[in-house]
Amino acid sequence: MSSRAYVGLGANVGADLSSTLAQATRALAALPGTRLAGLSSAWRSAPVDAGGPDFLNAVAALDTTLQPLELLDALQAIEQAHGRERPYRNAPRTLDLDLLLYDDLVLDSPRLTLPHPRLGQRAFVLRPLLEIAPELARLAMGDDWRAQRIERLGPLPP
Ligand code: AMP
Repeated sequence: MSSRAYVGLGANVGADLSSTLAQATRALAALPGTRLAGLSSAWRSAPVDAGGPDFLNAVAALDTTLQPLELLDALQAIEQAHGRERPYRNAPRTLDLDLLLYDDLVLDSPRLTLPHPRLGQRAFVLRPLLEIAPELARLAMGDDWRAQRIERLGPLPP
């Protein structure tokens, strides 16, 4: 039995953000017991609570037999492989992978909170997520996210 997980991808440091996200997507698709079930467009968004240049964001849908913490471990390994450093909170980042949803699981544990906190208030999550899963519109909270600057660019490179 596989589970449906949604993963948010973001990057705002690096020479070629779209190839960073495309590589990360390939790494997700190659995880054991995992199939890429959907991929949003690339979206360009203004940083929220963070400095630096605009972000490139996308959301991937995965069908996976990995358990939630196994998937989180895998996401963090992919981030590390992209040389992510965390000199300070919300520092610019080469690659950020967030586990947004895992089936209907609600969890609040030291390493993992599901659904991802703030998911419902962030345009850079909601726009790509609702592009591939419009049935999740109930997750949106309030209207602030509608005013956040974000632009749909088009498909990620293969
Ligand atoms: P960030 O630096 O914003 O990517 O946050 C990473 C930290 O958030 C890690 O220590 C994770 O254990 C924790 N975390 C809690 N819930 C989640 C989630 N749903 N997805 C990714 N990281 C999470």
